[in-house]
Amino acid sequence: MTLQGKTALVTGAGRGIGHAIALKLAGEGALVAVNSHTSQNAEAVAAEIRSCGGQAMALPADVASSDDVKGLFDALLAKCGKLDILVNNAGILRDKLLLHMSDEDWDTVINTDLRSVFLCTRAALKTMLGEHAGRIINISSIAAFAGNPGQTSYAAAKAGIIGFTRSMSREVAKHGITVNAIAPGFIETDMTALLSDKQRAELIMHIPAGFPGAAQDVAEAVAFLASDAARYITGQVITVDGGLATGHCTI
Ligand code: NAP
Repeated sequence: MTLQGKTALVTGAGRGIGHAIALKLAGEGALVAVNSHTSQNAEAVAAEIRSCGGQAMALPADVASSDDVKGLFDALLAKCGKLDILVNNAGILRDKLLLHMSDEDWDTVINTDLRSVFLCTRAALKTMLGEHAGRIINISSIAAFAGNPGQTSYAAAKAGIIGFTRSMSREVAKHGITVNAIAPGFIETDMTALLSDKQRAELIMHIPAGFPGAAQDVAEAVAFLASDAARYITGQVITVDGGLATGHCTI
């Protein structure tokens, strides 16, 4: 196990990719703080980890809210004393063509997908700087590179995460903290279950690997970035997409 003795916080770990990341980090020996918006989902995942012999605690909170994030970190640090690994995974979609997008739709996506990364990273840094060590892994999306009609808010937030990651990595590299992003492609979760059969078939047609990814594929990349093996990797974006973002080769 590569993460024995480490404490990890995974936001949005109640379902989907975050759930797989929480299980993977716990399987590698980390004590995992499972955040989710609903306490029911956070508690269920923490219980699942404990039932497999791992260590976990549920910390439900809205990571878009300053007050909630403060409460989350107060509770985490009171119980664990430190945080070694932060995975900023929580994210939502509110797809709409721009002309139909309300201020509220825009703000909700930017706050949940981007502001949360700022709030949680700032809170985590306070303990990581003291330890002179840390791993921050931000979940972006290939939508940040290519964009998608109806996803201006989502793509803006996910592209923002990449700029944030690169700048943060330079701020804290000398303190032993690495900051990287992962850009998943089409991963089978509740989020992509919203796609119609036609949209799904079209997307799969463009994936060079020929099939959608699983949450586990992202979790494996996170575990690598969280490990000592990745100590010299920072400011990078790792794409986990079966080749989707490389574009379509015509010759
Ligand atoms: P998902 O299945 O919809 O799960 C989203 C998780 O985020 C849920 O656990 C949800 O909490 C949590 N969450 C939402 N808003 C939150 C908030 N304000 N505070 C705390 N937690 C919140 O999504 P997913 O597909 O696993 O996506 C995970 C991440 O990967 C997202 O950032 C997404 O943008 C990114 N991503 C996904 C794909 C894909 O194909 N699936 C591709 C690229 C990037 P509850 O369970 O309590 O509701």
